[in-house]
Amino acid sequence: MKYKTIIEPFKIKSVEPIRFTNREEREVLLKEAGYNPFMLHSDDVLVDLLTDSGTSAMSSKQWAGIMEGDEAYAGSKSYYRFEAVVRSITQMKHIIPTHQGRAAEKILFSIVGGPGKYFPNNTHFDTTRANIEFTGSEAFDLLNEVGKHPEIRADFKGNMDLEKLEAFINEKGAENIPLCLITVTNNSGGGQPVSMQNIRETKQLCSKYGIPLFIDACRFAENAYFIKLREKGYENKTPLEIAQEMFSYADGVTMSAKKDALVNIGGFLALNDDELAIKCRNLLIVTEGFVTYGGLAGRDLEAVAQGLLEVLDEHYLQYRIRSVEYLGEKLIAAGVPIIEPPGGHAIYIDAKRFVNHIPPEQYPGQSIVCELYLEGGIRAVEIGSVMFGKYDNQGKLIPAMMELVRLAIPRRVYTQSHVDFLIEVITEVYKKRNELKGYKIIYEAPILRHFTAKFEPLMQ
Ligand SMILES: *Cc1c(COP(=O)(O)O)cnc(C)c1O
Repeated sequence: MKYKTIIEPFKIKSVEPIRFTNREEREVLLKEAGYNPFMLHSDDVLVDLLTDSGTSAMSSKQWAGIMEGDEAYAGSKSYYRFEAVVRSITQMKHIIPTHQGRAAEKILFSIVGGPGKYFPNNTHFDTTRANIEFTGSEAFDLLNEVGKHPEIRADFKGNMDLEKLEAFINEKGAENIPLCLITVTNNSGGGQPVSMQNIRETKQLCSKYGIPLFIDACRFAENAYFIKLREKGYENKTPLEIAQEMFSYADGVTMSAKKDALVNIGGFLALNDDELAIKCRNLLIVTEGFVTYGGLAGRDLEAVAQGLLEVLDEHYLQYRIRSVEYLGEKLIAAGVPIIEPPGGHAIYIDAKRFVNHIPPEQYPGQSIVCELYLEGGIRAVEIGSVMFGKYDNQGKLIPAMMELVRLAIPRRVYTQSHVDFLIEVITEVYKKRNELKGYKIIYEAPILRHFTAKFEPLMQ
């Protein structure tokens, strides 16, 4: 087409009103929430960028699928449709539905994990790390160097560092590494893609040591589209063909359907190993449900199957990647430091550069998150030392590698004018960045503390 405006490739059939509040109201609401946006009521939020997980707008065909759902306990036709679609994309032998991504992780790592085991990944997502550590195993992030520098632009900042991976295998011993993971796109590292070459070479390295490779595939379609845009030799391939090649290097897949399956709940575990599949299905029956529904209703399986077809549509992916990039470009133009280039599902503000007067011990990302809510009713999330910080033996904070604020964009939910509004609010907060204050934690849970932590603003 000769026109350069990329439009939302859908029209709107059903709308959900959003509620407006003023700053005084938001000050009270945020204080009541312990300065933790996870604790806000969602109808007190104007534009909700907390997560892109489970927040997609479903299509009319997905809603039709909800009516089509076969709710039989065993052998539901919705399961067979789901299985056929997942298999057509992943080519995996065993397709095991779960109620969301972490349920697939829980089952997998309960079986292959345990004390004395080590799991490498480009970057573990928080639930993946938690599920590994919960079994007594250790999780290691082996992201390539360029991925650690928010200000450096590169095409595939989600790539695994293969030299580090080989050194890691030699140090820990291949026999102590039940499997290697690669997360596409790299959520915790800025939604940055992984190249086909890197996936292929990771597989080759793993094969050399007899280690299976699993793909954490939450955003496989977005990753496939980045490969199409950026990697030589893929420009004329369809997103489906690219996804199929990505999965051809994997021995297993964990998936949260709440991302690139465009649904509000769902997930799966897919794998080739017959013995492992039997163990996983046995645990599935104890924790999730029978093997043909795994914690989901038949209608959910229909919606996942349809969503997986829609997410690979090129018009959708072009709109998706471009709308996130548009937000990023405008913020960069306003001087706001973000991870460059923009990722697939989110923009990550670099809080270290945004508020360089607030040290990691005072949670710079949390400070920005709070101010975005107070200023414009925008809900974002800290991905930094609140989420990933640890304590040493003296109880001193070991900060996270990066201090980020994630603006996750729900799929097919907001229009360009919402995004233009965001740009105005963020720019305004950036202008008064020197007035922002640090925060201290006054309550925290022992695991995944960011969900329930309570904070207090520091006065000086
Ligand atoms: C969301 C996510 C998960 C966990 O999935 P849930 O559906 O939230 O349980 C795992 N890995 C990555 C990369 C994710 O983004």
